[in-house]
Amino acid sequence: MSSPAQRIQQLRDELNSHNHAYYVDNRPVISDYDYDMLMKELEKLEAEHPELDDPFSPTHRVGSDITKGFEQVAHERPMLSLSNTYSVEEVDEWVRRCNDSLGNPDGLKSIPIVGEMKFDGTSISLIYEGGRLVRAVTRGDGEKGDDVTENIKTIRSIPLVLHGEGYPERFEIRGEIVLPWKAFDRLNEERAFNEEPLFANPRNAAAGTLKMQNAAEVSRRGLDAYFYYLLADELPCDNHYDNMLMARKWGFKVSHLMTLMDDISEVDEFIKRLDVERKELPVATDGLVFKVNNLRQQLNLGYTSKSPRWAIAYKFAAERALTRLRFVSFEVGRMGIVTPVANLEPVLLSGTIVKRASLHNEDIVKTLGIHEGDMLYVEKGGEIIPKITGVDTAAREPDAAPVKFITHCPDCGTPLVRIPGEAAWQCPNKYGCRPQIIGRLEHYVGRHAMDIDGVGEENAALLYDAGLVRDIADFYTLKAADLEALERVGPRTAQRILEGVEASKSVPFDRVIYSLSIPFVGETVARKLARGTGDIDTLMSMSRDELVAIDDIGPRIADAVIEYFCVPSNKVIVERLREAGLQMALPEEDKSDRTDLLSGKTIVISGVFSKHSREEYKEMIEKNGGKNSGSISKKTSFVLAGDNMGPSKLEKARSLGIPVIDENEFLAMIRK
Ligand code: AMP
Ligand code: ZN
Repeated sequence: MSSPAQRIQQLRDELNSHNHAYYVDNRPVISDYDYDMLMKELEKLEAEHPELDDPFSPTHRVGSDITKGFEQVAHERPMLSLSNTYSVEEVDEWVRRCNDSLGNPDGLKSIPIVGEMKFDGTSISLIYEGGRLVRAVTRGDGEKGDDVTENIKTIRSIPLVLHGEGYPERFEIRGEIVLPWKAFDRLNEERAFNEEPLFANPRNAAAGTLKMQNAAEVSRRGLDAYFYYLLADELPCDNHYDNMLMARKWGFKVSHLMTLMDDISEVDEFIKRLDVERKELPVATDGLVFKVNNLRQQLNLGYTSKSPRWAIAYKFAAERALTRLRFVSFEVGRMGIVTPVANLEPVLLSGTIVKRASLHNEDIVKTLGIHEGDMLYVEKGGEIIPKITGVDTAAREPDAAPVKFITHCPDCGTPLVRIPGEAAWQCPNKYGCRPQIIGRLEHYVGRHAMDIDGVGEENAALLYDAGLVRDIADFYTLKAADLEALERVGPRTAQRILEGVEASKSVPFDRVIYSLSIPFVGETVARKLARGTGDIDTLMSMSRDELVAIDDIGPRIADAVIEYFCVPSNKVIVERLREAGLQMALPEEDKSDRTDLLSGKTIVISGVFSKHSREEYKEMIEKNGGKNSGSISKKTSFVLAGDNMGPSKLEKARSLGIPVIDENEFLAMIRK
């Protein structure tokens, strides 16, 4: 047995490493439940041994989501955490404690309680002055967070100017930024397609999105927000529930599931009802929150250093099943990345049969310590992709060997290489490895790429194996007779394929770039490259520096582009595509309004404009050869400022001596 001091240290170390995995890497390795259990054990030990307390213990903080690149702002009132419960009994216990401290020990006059959904996203604090949104800050470490106002403004459900009346001149409202299931699925589909790492859940996706340096991309991803807490020196009503109803009138999204309960007796019913209803919601939730409704009672109950005493979270159990590992297969993707996949004895989980679950990469296999034939825990918190969260080691056969990661490509036998700085192994045989080539063919015909109807996953393999299409340029040599000679391809499909191939010749240049399967070049990047270069010859001849000068193109993408066009067989493919008649340049009308007027200039846009939208200004900057940037630095050439430019930005520009111009001056500047 270890001493309490040893156990405390061990728990602190463990919790610190989980905090890092969760908040910094966005890759939690244990479930929230297990995390809470470790935290509770530590809290208990520390309470029993006050002499061992340490201000740096993980029990003293709520975890930080601070990222470089955003201005940090102190919260006017700290943003705390909520303590968790996992059963109705614990909720009852909490109400009893509240009654006790309010001097109502028998609970005779039981207290009114508000039950709410606990939205699973990332928390935000908004400040409104005179009915206008002036600032949005993330929770950060609870004391200070990141100023993400620009990104928040892209969320359509957040009112920039309030409706109605009766709001305090200045107030704070807190809520949860969420990525609805639909948007989450779409984002992950896109990322899977581009072989980018997937987001484990909507919470990580929402948090990651909120911290992006590109407000346009934030806007595209489709965040949403629910609000649940109003703070001000003087609030309109004396209770939480009515204040939230007011907030709803001012334009905030306040969940209609919020319920006022006269006393504890309704809690049980509420939990049962919501555990069903939450499954129909468009957004992820991970539990409920109960709050004492009366503000005076809240005030009297007060806070601990970590959380309010007048509120408590109730967490739903994640759905989990135990099943046997049949074997681990290794699958090679379009970019040669090898993904280990757990093939399982089929098991029913949240209403679907699960047979396979991705193990993502070697590190995850190692961390989980999976052995052959292990009994594995599979969890599905509502996400579409099931995940393996643990191993039942007690059920392990004594002679079971640990699952080994392969060293050679399962398909072509080439020794795998580890991508520097990443957990992924890759088959380097890009141009000779069957699943990689077929993956690129599938990508080429995809809906977002060339959209060639009639060639699905299976047909791509069929065409390749028959020797008809060995690379993407071969699509343009296909003949009806060749296709019809294939088993499984009838005349109608053959016709559709040929029509699709013909139609692909008018697909715009940016999608042609996307279709080439250049590593890291997804749809957005392809569009930037198309706009930044104008035609394929310019793209192929650009240096690293020139590429990096294009908005949003970093060194990693630049290197991938250069490497791609250095390969002789890729150059041949591009030439053959050009001969086939594909669009290898932007249309003339797009090019004609391109100029060099802003060439070499880095410009920051800030504030609200009246003549054009921010997006339009961004586009104008690019078309005229300039570069957009999100933050002011010494490199900024000038700031294009509209109304309501943030005072901190203005101050920064002044202190660095950077000119600030308005939209009229800017429009004059680019008038030819
Ligand atoms: P935790 O981070 O697990 O301590 O839980 C506290 C967090 O729950 C808060 O910071 C909020 O981001 C989030 N939350 C989601 N829904 C609600 C709600 N209805 N009321 C209060 N907090 C909520
Ligand atoms: Zn291979």
